[in-house]
Amino acid sequence: MAPETSAPKTMVPKRPLINRLALIGVGLIGSSIARAARAQGVTGEIVATARSPATRRRVAELGLADQVVESNGAAAEGADLVIACVPVGACGEVAREIARHLKPGAIVSDVGSVKAAIVRDMAPHLPAGVHFVPAHPVAGTEHSGPDAGFAELFVGRWCILTPPGETDAAAVEKLAAFWRALGANVETMPPEHHDLVLAITSHLPHLIAYTIVGTADELAEVTRSEVLKFSAGGFRDFTRIAASDPTMWRDVFLANKDAVLEMLGTFNEDLAQLTRAIRRGDGEALFDHFTRTRAIRRGIVEIGQDSAVPDFGRAHRGLPADPLPRPYAVSDDD
Ligand code: NAP
Repeated sequence: MAPETSAPKTMVPKRPLINRLALIGVGLIGSSIARAARAQGVTGEIVATARSPATRRRVAELGLADQVVESNGAAAEGADLVIACVPVGACGEVAREIARHLKPGAIVSDVGSVKAAIVRDMAPHLPAGVHFVPAHPVAGTEHSGPDAGFAELFVGRWCILTPPGETDAAAVEKLAAFWRALGANVETMPPEHHDLVLAITSHLPHLIAYTIVGTADELAEVTRSEVLKFSAGGFRDFTRIAASDPTMWRDVFLANKDAVLEMLGTFNEDLAQLTRAIRRGDGEALFDHFTRTRAIRRGIVEIGQDSAVPDFGRAHRGLPADPLPRPYAVSDDD
């Protein structure tokens, strides 16, 4: 008797969540979405465009989309979901350009790191009958461009949706399902709240990194080679953040001015307190503060938002990768 056969799972045709996905801008984030959406079979077809012919050519070479078109309007034509993956300052213009090409019922979204300014700049251009659901995947690296993306970028990371109050709930749920399919956890909040939270968790740390790396560079008595040579003393980790894309971060600070200034005010007060503790030799104040911050770091590791591997898992020549030998791996339990 012939053995029973059944079609392998991969051959069962699955209706994609999104028939036609349009990506406007295919850098780190756009190309990661393209790769992840392909890998997960979430979209029927991907149409992409970018500002420059060189990037469009590269997107085609990498095979990131089924079609690479020359204008934002052409990309949006007939799309079920359009995602603007361009710098925050360019989103308003993108919305203006795609408006008359959008089909009724289409979902328009973005990935910008600031949300209130995106709502202000994009919403007025979008026609009735189109669902606007702004989004921010809180995931990234310091690299840019279509070669920098990877399918796993969003796995286990948060994607924050900030739909205006009147947005169609089914459209919000569809975009949430899209991001969940890419591996992200999804949360919804008002855009102003997003901007305040991200000002402290992302924007201010970037500003501090940009500042400290610039300050070290300007110090006349510390030669450049010594800064580089001894960078493992903490400075190196700032340099990674400070290598982030200048256009993207210029736009973030211009667009999230109020929240960043508010957080910067609080930060300056706290810095003044620590400065005073150092000046007065107040070891207890310093110790208490550092104990509190260490607990915050442990909390981040516990909820899976970072690795506990010492030195971020960097390989150390001649030493076993994990665990590092004493005295580098000391903890409270020792
Ligand atoms: P990216 O790698 O620099 O890519 C940006 C893309 O946008 C490129 O395809 C670029 O085309 C296009 N573009 C640039 N300026 C444009 C303009 N004026 N009009 C139309 N297209 C334009 O940037 P990314 O890191 O993917 O960031 C994209 C968005 O994601 C930003 O809004 C950023 O805030 C947000 N985001 C970034 C991160 C991160 O860590 N990088 C994380 C979360 C969210 P060309 O190459 O042809 O110039």
